[in-house]
Formats: sequence, structure tokens, C-alpha cells
Amino acid sequence: MRVAVVGLGTGGPAAALFLARQGHEVEIFERVTDPGPVGAGLLLQPTGMAVLDRLGLLEGVLARSARVDRLRGVTTYGRTVIDLAYSDLRPGLFGLGVHRGTLFQALEDAVHAAGIPVREGVSVDTLPSGYDLVVIAAGARSTLRPPGAVVRPYPWGALWTSIPDPTGRWDGVLSQVYRDTRQMLGFLPSGTPPGHSTPQVSLFWSIRTDAMDAWRARGLDAWKADILALAPDVPVDAMTPPTFAPYFDVRMYPYQHGNVVWIGDAAHAMSPQLGQGANLALIDAMTLADCVAEGRLDEYSARRRDHVGFYAWASRWLTPFFQSSFPVLAPPRDLVAMPLHAWPWYRRQMLASLAGMKTGIFSELPPLLTVQETALAR
Ligand SMILES: Cc1cc2nc3c(=O)[nH]c(=O)nc-3n(C[C@H](O)[C@H](O)[C@H](O)COP(=O)(O)OP(=O)(O)OC[C@H]3O[C@@H](n4cnc5c(N)ncnc54)[C@H](O)[C@@H]3O)c2cc1C
Repeated sequence: MRVAVVGLGTGGPAAALFLARQGHEVEIFERVTDPGPVGAGLLLQPTGMAVLDRLGLLEGVLARSARVDRLRGVTTYGRTVIDLAYSDLRPGLFGLGVHRGTLFQALEDAVHAAGIPVREGVSVDTLPSGYDLVVIAAGARSTLRPPGAVVRPYPWGALWTSIPDPTGRWDGVLSQVYRDTRQMLGFLPSGTPPGHSTPQVSLFWSIRTDAMDAWRARGLDAWKADILALAPDVPVDAMTPPTFAPYFDVRMYPYQHGNVVWIGDAAHAMSPQLGQGANLALIDAMTLADCVAEGRLDEYSARRRDHVGFYAWASRWLTPFFQSSFPVLAPPRDLVAMPLHAWPWYRRQMLASLAGMKTGIFSELPPLLTVQETALAR
């Protein structure tokens, strides 16, 4: 088949690699001229790692990334709200703090090594014709969507920046601090990305989109003071210039119309509260390739519906408790969080959700974890 993939982000190159390996003639179109390894860290879940393993890219990414064993969230008044260790779900299990540059470089190098042509600086604004299959992996801001798709910007987004962490102060833990629901500061160990010789930690600060002008007017020093008020001793003067990333909520179904398939954020962008977007994009790519190999492209949407649906629902439901203008939600959150952690069934559900495995309140993705365990054992 002749295949056009729109977007050299996360899902696009993964889909291109899987499809090229099946012998299809794949071309990638990327809007950015000379795309490079930029961005902050993201949390790769066991599910996303399983996909990278199938692409043969996991070991290279592991070498440059930071193992995350635990997710811990505390309030400014010292109450623990989240404390989840991957190993409580299964011994040896972990997440990975991956700098976007590391992931991008691994995927891009593999794309070049596979001889897949990348048409850079080409913004695809109408569906490409002359292809047997078109994969839209153009992210949350994609302009290519089927009729009926709903794209809603969240009122909130995040400022992100990087700090060198030569002493490993943030090793092993994705940590967050909350001041009710209106301030959230997060630290994600992100390994040593291309172009760096020191491990980096990514810092995230949630902020309303409409507060950005006021944030700029206050200046960087005022923001550094806000950070220090939540986490004293952060080396704020070593931060790289911050960048703002808005969140989007995209709803569409099915994800496939004829020979056009939407994957990743283009199909189902969501708030990153649960750290799943890149993982979902990778699993989309793998599932799409499986459907193509089996000659069952028409099954793609149904195969992805439950997994994507669970995380879209859970992200919409949880985000207001952590990033919203409703501080009234904080006291009940803080009150019930630890009793819920102590309830074994609920704790397991939270861990499975974190690990990217849930397909519904009572169901999970079993086969992927087996793949991941094999990879990690090696
Ligand atoms: C602050 C923040 C934190 C996050 N943290 C996590 C996390 O911890 N874990 C996680 O899994 N996910 C996280 N995410 C989500 C994750 O970044 C996305 O879900 C993921 O990048 C989606 O991948 P994608 O391939 O669908 O799209 P993208 O990575 O956005 O790639 C889309 C590509 O398409 C290109 N493109 C766009 N339009 C066109 C066009 N018209 N023509 C050609 N090319 C085009 C773009 O330039 C881009 O290269 C986070 C997101 C944010 C904002």
C-alpha cells in the first residue's frame, strides 16, 4: 500500500515504522521545517514501553531516561494525596521519565534508518489523495478532522521548564505539590536527553490560559518566588526559559473513515493529568499496524474504543480535583485520598490506571503487560 502519515510527533513515526516494516511504501509529512528534539519530559508507562520494545527502540530510550518507581503528591499543608508505587502492582514494574528529545530522537533515527521519506516543512491541510491509507497523527491542534469531531481547549495548561539534577535529588519519584486546586507544581526526572551531559528534571506548573498575560506582566522572579513557596531549595536560577503548553479535549468516534485513520492526540487529546497521551498514541500506532496486517482496518476504532474511552473519561473526571478554579474540591480530595489508598481493590485500580492498563472500571489490557515484563526482564 502507499501510506501517507501526517505528523512526525509520537504516534506518527511509530505508525510509519510499523507499516514500513510490513513492506508498505510510507511517506511522512511534517509541518515543522527541521523538527528537533525539543520539549520537557513525559512519563512513559509500561504500555508505551511495550510498544517501543516491539519497535526495537526500548533499550536506547531506557539508557537515556530516568526510572520512575513512585508517584507522590502532597498538599502545601503536608497531607499526602497520592502515593503509588508501580511495584505494588507487580514487582519490578516502573514508569520512565523520558525527555521528549530522547523519544523524538529515537523515533526519528529509526525512521531515517528505515529509509522512510520525511517531507519536512509541509503543512497538510486537506486530506492527501493518491494513497491507499492516510494516517492523521497531527496532534491536538490538527486541522484535519472528520465532521462531528469536537475540539475543546481546556481553561488550564502548564508551564514547563528543565533543571539540571546532577546529584539525583529527584531520582525515582514523580512528585507533585498542590495548593488547593489552583496551584500544582510537579517534578519529573527526565534522564539525560540529546545535547545534555547532566540528568535533567522537568518542572511543571499548572496555570490558567487566561492568566498567562498576568503571569508575563509579573515577571520571572515573581514566578520563581511562587515555586519556592511550594518547594523551597529548588535551584530556580538554573531553569531553562519556561514554555506554556495548553491542554485540549478532543472527542471523536469512530477513529477511522474509509482509508483515513486518526491516531494519538488528533483523535483523542486529553488533559495530561494521568500521563497517558504519548502512551495512547504509541498503542494506537501498534494497533493500527496489527489491523492492517490482518486486513481488518475496519476494526481499528472498536479495538481502541475502550482503552482510549477509559482514559478520556478518567482524565475529564480527575482533572478538576487537581487543576481547576474550584478550590472547594480540594478538601474532599484531601480527606478521602488516603483512606481510598488503603482499600486494596481501589488501590489496585489506581495503580493499573497509572500503568496505562485500564480499559474500563472492571477491565484491563492483559497482553501488553506480558510484553513489557519480557522486555524488562531482558
Ligand atoms: C504539559 C504536558 C504534559 C504531558 N505529559 C505527558 C506524560 O507525562 N505522559 C504522556 O504519555 N503524555 C503526556 N502528554 C501528552 C503527550 O504530549 C501527547 O499526548 C503526545 O505527544 C501525542 O502525540 P501525537 O503523536 O498524537 O501528537 P504530537 O506529538 O503533538 O505530534 C503531532 C505532530 O504533527 C505535526 N503537525 C501538526 N499539524 C500538521 C499538519 N497540518 N501537517 C503536517 N504536520 C502537522 C506537528 O508539528 C507534530 O510534529 C503531556 C502533554 C502536555 C501538554
